[in-house]
Amino acid sequence: MGAVGVKPVALVRDPLCLRHSNGPGHPESPERLEAIDRMLAGFPLRDRLQDLPARDASFEELAGVHTQGHIRRIEATRERPLSVLDPDTSATADSCAAALRAAGGVLAAVEAVLDGGYAGAFAAVRPPGHHAEADRAMGFCLFNNAAVAARFALKARGLRRVLLVDWDVHHGNGSMHSFYDSPEVLYFSVHQFPHYPGTGRVEEIGRGAGAGYTVNVPLPGGQGDEEYLAVFREVLRPVALAYRPELVLVSAGFDIHRDDPLADMRVTAAGFASLTRVLAEVAEACCPGRLVFALEGGYNLPALAAGVAAVLRSLLGEAPQPAVGQAADEATRGVVARVRATLAPYWPLTVGG
Ligand SMILES: [Zn+2]
Repeated sequence: MGAVGVKPVALVRDPLCLRHSNGPGHPESPERLEAIDRMLAGFPLRDRLQDLPARDASFEELAGVHTQGHIRRIEATRERPLSVLDPDTSATADSCAAALRAAGGVLAAVEAVLDGGYAGAFAAVRPPGHHAEADRAMGFCLFNNAAVAARFALKARGLRRVLLVDWDVHHGNGSMHSFYDSPEVLYFSVHQFPHYPGTGRVEEIGRGAGAGYTVNVPLPGGQGDEEYLAVFREVLRPVALAYRPELVLVSAGFDIHRDDPLADMRVTAAGFASLTRVLAEVAEACCPGRLVFALEGGYNLPALAAGVAAVLRSLLGEAPQPAVGQAADEATRGVVARVRATLAPYWPLTVGG
């Protein structure tokens, strides 16, 4: 993999991200980051990970995606012990601070890879972001970390093409909606469907100047490494290489793991390494080193830790080459064919054959 294995990987963590709670028993818990911390303590390639400080996202940076009303509502949660934001999402008095740091942590990762010198970056932050809409918190998410980072790359750093890949098992409705009219961010999601939040049909491809710049791959439950790899190789890679991103952002949800309690996919740690490899190849071809992973879901703690380890190992060029895969499941092959046909007017995707 050449240079991919040589440079360090930037790692963003911050203790403030542990201070947000949705209340006892909630799957999106501080223990998730503690599980990642424990994994890192024994990670054999730890000296090739470079710790980077997070920072807070500014009001202006958040306003690139969110309404002023939404930002003020989240700020107001500082004054109460508990604020219920949606049926699945709550905030404690420290949640706003955690959310500002989580969004800013992804911004710090983006700044680092744009300045150069890294094989990529991983922001192990929470609360997650991809369900947060312009004007509301939703689905465990307060601010849309990845969308804020994409907008920052465009506005503050002058980029014109950002690829946002979302492999969380849930569709990233907030991320998709943030850029639905724009060719400046190509949003690609593979997700379980039908499932929460209900968006992400094949036909949702963007609108106006953004038509063709949203790619949705909705899969039935039960799909595993071979199926995800087929989606990445047969849809994501050709579209991404034609798009030529200047930055690749990843909404990395580890709830596609076979042990995750909130969904029904069957991806393994080896699968996460393979998917990361495809993304690293795209970045290598289009924007070397500019590959940033932002943590989204993942609710089985050992699976989450193993998945993050696999991503980091793969970014460092040290993941074992996957065995030659079996053919993908027929259901996935059908969805892939439908997505390719739908997007063929926009991208060099042959139909059939
Ligand atoms: Zn999820």
